[in-house]
Order: sequence, then C-alpha cells, then structure tokens
Amino acid sequence: MEWFLVCHGMVTLTVVVSFLCGQWPIFNNTPIQWIHHFLTFAAYDYFLRFVAFVFGAKGTDLILSIEYFFCYRPNPLLQIIYLAIVGSTYFLTAKSCFTFIPGYYIGEVHKYTSFVAVIVGVVLFILTSFCDPGTVNAKNVSQYISAYPYDDIIYSKKECSTCKIPNLCFSFRPARSKHCSICNRCVARFDHHCGWMNNCIGEKNTKYFMAFLLWHFLLCLYGTIAIGFILAGRVKDLRIVHVLTMYYGIENSFRGLAPRVLQWLVGTYNTQILLVVFLALISLLLAGFFAYHLNLCLTNTTTNEKFKWREYMSLQKKISEAKESAAALKAGMTNIELEHSVERKWRGLWRRSEAKSKVIIANRNLYDKGNFENISEIVFPLSSRQSFCQTNQKSE
Ligand SMILES: [Zn+2]
Ligand SMILES: [Zn+2]
Repeated sequence: MEWFLVCHGMVTLTVVVSFLCGQWPIFNNTPIQWIHHFLTFAAYDYFLRFVAFVFGAKGTDLILSIEYFFCYRPNPLLQIIYLAIVGSTYFLTAKSCFTFIPGYYIGEVHKYTSFVAVIVGVVLFILTSFCDPGTVNAKNVSQYISAYPYDDIIYSKKECSTCKIPNLCFSFRPARSKHCSICNRCVARFDHHCGWMNNCIGEKNTKYFMAFLLWHFLLCLYGTIAIGFILAGRVKDLRIVHVLTMYYGIENSFRGLAPRVLQWLVGTYNTQILLVVFLALISLLLAGFFAYHLNLCLTNTTTNEKFKWREYMSLQKKISEAKESAAALKAGMTNIELEHSVERKWRGLWRRSEAKSKVIIANRNLYDKGNFENISEIVFPLSSRQSFCQTNQKSE
C-alpha cells in the first residue's frame, strides 16, 4: 500500500513537472522532454491519426472544428473549469476539514474567513474576466496615442488591417496595443489573451489580473497552512506522539517520530493530505507566475513586448552576423578562414555581446519610468488620467 502511494506520487510529479517545465533547456534530451513532447504535441497528433483511421476525414474535420472553437474563439470552457476547480476544492475542504474546526491550533473563525477568501477570489476572477481590457475604438484612439508614444523600435505607426479604426486624425494603431485575433479587437497595452478569463489582459484590467494571481497564491497558501494546522491539531488531540512512544516503543525524537506520524496521517486523513499537496503545488505555480508578471509590471513591459524584443534581438543578431560575414569576405578571406574566424569570434564575444545587448534593451524601453511610476500606471492606467482625457477633448 505504501509503495503504491509512493509510486503514484512519483508518477504524478513526473507528469506534472514534464508538462510544465519539459521545454526548459536543462531537460534537453531527457525523458522529461520526451514526456513533454508527447503530452503537448504527439498525443494529440496520434489521437487525430486514430480518428482519421476509424472515422475518416469527417471525424478529423469535427475534431479540428471543436479545436478551433475552443482554442481560437472566445468561449467560457476554461472559466467553467476554473469555477468547478474552486468550487469542488472548497467543497472538499469544507466537508473533510470543518468537522475538526475549532481544533487545537485553529479557531472557529476560519470557517468564515475561508469562505470570504474564496468569494473575494471569485470576485477578482469576475472583474478580470468581464472588465474592458482597454478596447481601442474611434472614440478613444487619440487618447491612447497621446498616452503611449511610438518608440520606433518595436512600435511604429501602423494601421490595424482588421479594425481599420475610423478617426479623422489617427488611423494608426496606438503603440503597445495589439489586435487580439480571438476577441477580434485591438487592445491597448496588450499583455496576452487569457483563456482562463476568456478575456484579453490589457491596460485596464492588468491590475485585476495581478490581484487575482496574488490573491489565489495567498488563498492556496492559506489552505495549505490551515489544513496543516488541523492535522497537527489531530496529532495533538489524539495524543499520537504519546501512543507511539509509550505503546509502540518508538524513540522520542523528531527523526524517529516524523515518519511514523506522517504514515499515520496518510493512512487516516488521506483526503486532507491530498488537499495539502494539491494546494501547495498550485500555490507554488501561482507564486512563480505572479513573480514573472510582477517583474513585467515593475519594468513596464508586457508579455507581448517580451516576444517582440526577443524577435528584434534575434533579427539584430542575424544582421550583425551577415555584416560580419560580408566584411570578412570583402577582406578577401577564404571560406575556411572565414568559418574559423567567425567561430572563434563568437565563442569569445557570445557572452559579452549578449550582456551588452541586454543593457541596450533595458535602456531602450521607452515606457520604463522607474518601479514606482510603473506600478502606478498599472493601478491608474494612463488613458484614464485627467491629462490624457483633456488632450482627447482638445483634439476632437
Ligand atoms: Zn485591430
Ligand atoms: Zn483576446
């Protein structure tokens, strides 16, 4: 039984780690990467082939149109899954843990605070999902253009070929905005389209999105700690340590008792243990996700801009490589000499040039105005500020 639990845990952990982190460079050519490839790509491919084999082209067409609807069209599937996860986790927690409240280490009040905490989480979810992320239209386009200047590196004056926003002075898409192909609209300070929210994350709802991430991280942490205290209380109330040392002759030390107590807990309170592990894992994931987005907010960058900078950098690298080769050819080197020299140069220059280009990028981010101002732009979006509303009225 124990071995079964251990194996089950190991398999689950491997699958979760492979799925989430399998593409990381440290896992290159390891089974973790293979499992990741299978889960994210190959499994679906095999499934499609299987459907084609059994049902023919009609079957694959159906699957592909379902995929199109759920992946490339606005739909509430993930929103429903979110509510189902939150609801069932809270229900399971209440059902398995509330009978032990109040316990030795936990007070009655947590029955109510936990409920309030979940409701606040759902409210933040609704705010992020249904708030306008900052849709660009003919009325507000001038406001957005005055709020976000073009940096002429990753943003230049360009029209959105789909929206073609009609406005006398401005037919350009504002800098930092992007056309979301799923929602079919241009969104100001576009970060990404969030499937869980069925909404874009943009200028106006980034604050709710950040609050959602932080709150859900804290919520899972709260759950983990509270259930931990409930279980510790059970160990205390049932005098497990006393029983183990007195009747089973276990040595009265942490090293002697910890595995026995844990074994007893897993056997007696398996639902609660499962909940603790689940909540702890989710809180870790959310902490990482929140930290990533907090870093973006502090430097006034968006997920979309991260990709744009990466593209820009790789283009710059290719250009400089091409220039170098051209220069070397001009100098009359033979091909072999050229290869050697380029290789040697790259080996030495690689780290330095990468460090240097990162410095240039950091300096070139026009929108980065220091941590404090960057955060205040998240909380009070530029386009909603008085100064930009006035520019808008003047220009009209
Ligand atoms: Zn557009
Ligand atoms: Zn969208």
